[in-house]
Order: sequence, then structure tokens, then C-alpha cells
Amino acid sequence: MNLAAYACDPALSRGRRIPEPVAPTRSDFQRDRDRIVHSTAFRRLVYKTQVFLNHEGDLFRTRLTHSLEVAQLGRSIARTLQLNEDLVEAIALAHDLGHTPFGHAGQDALNACLKSHNPDSAGFEHNLQSLRVVDSLEERYPDYDGLNLTFETREGILKHCSKRNARHIEAREPGGVARRFVDQPGHEPAWRQPSLEAQLANLADEIAYNAHDMDDGVRSGLLSLEQLEDVPLFSRYRRETLAVYPALKDRRLLFETIRRMLSAQVYDVIDATRLAIAQAAPAGVQAVRQHAALVCFSDEMALQSTSLKRFLLQNLYRHPQVVQTTQAARQVVRDLFEAYMADPAQMPQAHSDRFDGGDSPLATGAKPERVVADYIAGMTDRFAVREHERLTGQRLLG
Ligand code: MG
Repeated sequence: MNLAAYACDPALSRGRRIPEPVAPTRSDFQRDRDRIVHSTAFRRLVYKTQVFLNHEGDLFRTRLTHSLEVAQLGRSIARTLQLNEDLVEAIALAHDLGHTPFGHAGQDALNACLKSHNPDSAGFEHNLQSLRVVDSLEERYPDYDGLNLTFETREGILKHCSKRNARHIEAREPGGVARRFVDQPGHEPAWRQPSLEAQLANLADEIAYNAHDMDDGVRSGLLSLEQLEDVPLFSRYRRETLAVYPALKDRRLLFETIRRMLSAQVYDVIDATRLAIAQAAPAGVQAVRQHAALVCFSDEMALQSTSLKRFLLQNLYRHPQVVQTTQAARQVVRDLFEAYMADPAQMPQAHSDRFDGGDSPLATGAKPERVVADYIAGMTDRFAVREHERLTGQRLLG
């Protein structure tokens, strides 16, 4: 791998929380990626909702296929920009490990449960939960909880974090992955950005879901090709496709249009990022962190991407049929939370054994409500539905 000076070099990694000898044939970032692929949380992504619930159709994206698409887009851009492909891949494959069942509906419900149980609760944040999974919740290794990943992979996983939780993490790990979210008045400003690889995994996430949600939206019948004409980015590439293939229609027209849109966005990111890097001329990774974000769309593509997002929000994510399902999903999560809080013995003992009263965002042991939230967050859609039926006698979904 031919790395630029501003790329993350595994030989210069800030290392793992618990030091380990270097593997003989793999770099530290390749090893992170391998640990993620072998984790239990990764396998659960197969059965977790992206937008459409897992049982609604076999061909819709799940968190797993979404994560693979993010890794593909991220790697291909990283290669061209001479960034570290392995690190981008590790971050992409881990970025959604902390997602609850039922997508954002599940996450919002769990957050509300924690806050209503205790107004002072740190709540539920899915990026932080992804970090919690790789730092504490995976139980695979004899010597430590979690996967003991490198700083650079963990930094990329913690894409957002509330200031309050960031302060907790910073107290545990000074100058660590939460440092960039913590304000310290009177001190030198902390760095605000993660590595370019992390910035790239983040943008690749956006590019991937915007594209595949259009595809899944049409597949589900909730969006029509005609409606998509309202999206400037889509109509432009649809026209371009029809100019070359005038007889093309239906699925193939949709696929070819989305394919061209994806390519255009990838090339746009490559060009805009190259320009931003050339202007900033960061000498190394720490200079990247101290600079404003460098992985970006051009201004024009940023506007088009925003309008695509707005379209999906109004026409797909807020579609009455999606809203109806997500209301049921929220109910499932709320009922599960209440049932386990009322009777923790309904959880497998390995979970209730973790009650120890602490509430540090990265600790393994925790208050009962945090342990319950961890247990629910780890569930797949179908397991949550079955568990809900077992505990309440009601089948709300599927
Ligand atoms: Mg994602």
C-alpha cells in the first residue's frame, strides 16, 4: 500500500489500550478488521434493520449489507487518495455495530426509556454504543473485554459523542478518542477532526445510504421512478442514461441511474478532497486532526446530496407505512425495557451479572438500566419481536 504522508500508517499507530505484540503477517489495522468480522455483534448486523424491517423482504439492505457497501465505497476512494484502505474498511465494518434493532426508531425509543427512567441518564447514542461494543461488550478474548482495537479504528467509530459522555470517556482515557468532543476553556483548542480515513468512512456511509435507500424505496413500492424525478441528482443521471439507452426502463434504468450517481459522487469526493488536501498541505495525521474536515464533496455536490437527503426524509423515512412500522417498533423496545427493568431475571444471567452500579460509557459493569439497554441494543429485529411476544403475549410486528 502506497500511503500519503497524511494517511494513517499502522507502524505509527497510537496503539491498543492493552499493548499486544504485532502480528507476523498482518498490519494492526488489518487485524482490527479481522477482529470486527469475527465478532458476534458483526454477525447480528445481518438481521438488523436499515430502513425496512428485516422481515419485510429478503432483498432490502440490512445493516450488514449496508456496512459492506460503505466499506467498498470507502476503500475505493481511499486507494485513489493513497489513504489507508484497511483502516477505512475496519471503521466501515464497525460503524453500525452499536445500532439497536429496528433502526433509528429503536434507538430513539431506547434513548427515551433511559431518560424517562432517570432524567440524569447519559441516554443512548449509537456511535458511542458501537464503541462500547468493541471496547467492552464483546466477550471473546481471555485477557480483556472487547476487541482491544487500535486508537485509529476506535477514533473512527466514535463519529459523534455528546459533551457529557465525552467528558466521561476523557476522564478514563485522557487525550483519547473523545478528546476532540471536549471543550477545555483556557487550554489550547483540542483537535476537532479524526483521521482522513475516519472522515472518509463517514462520507462513504452517507453516499451509500442515500443511494441504496432510493433503490430499496422503489423496490418496496413506496417510491416511484417518477417521484425520483424531483431529485436533481437522480433526474440528471436518468437523462444521461436514457440518452445512451433510450429503451431502458424499470429496474435496469433505476440501477444504471444509481450507478452513475454513485460514480459521480465518488469522483466528486476524490477531486474535492484532493483539492482540500493540496490547499491545507497537512504534514501528517495530527495536522489533519487539527484542520477543518478535508474529506468533502464539492459545494455543488454537497447541495445536491442535501436535496436528495431531504427528499428521502419527506418521501421515504416519513412515509405513512414506514411511520406505522416504526411506531410498533418503538412499542416493542419500550415494552422490553420495562419488562426487564421490572424483572431482570428475564434476561440471560450473563447480563444481570453485569450489574455493578457504575455508569461510565465504556465500562463493562453498569447500572441495571444500562445493562438492560445493552441487552436490547444487541438484539436482532426478529429476536426482539420474539422476546416481546414471549414477555407480553402480543405480536406487534412480523
Ligand atoms: Mg451507517
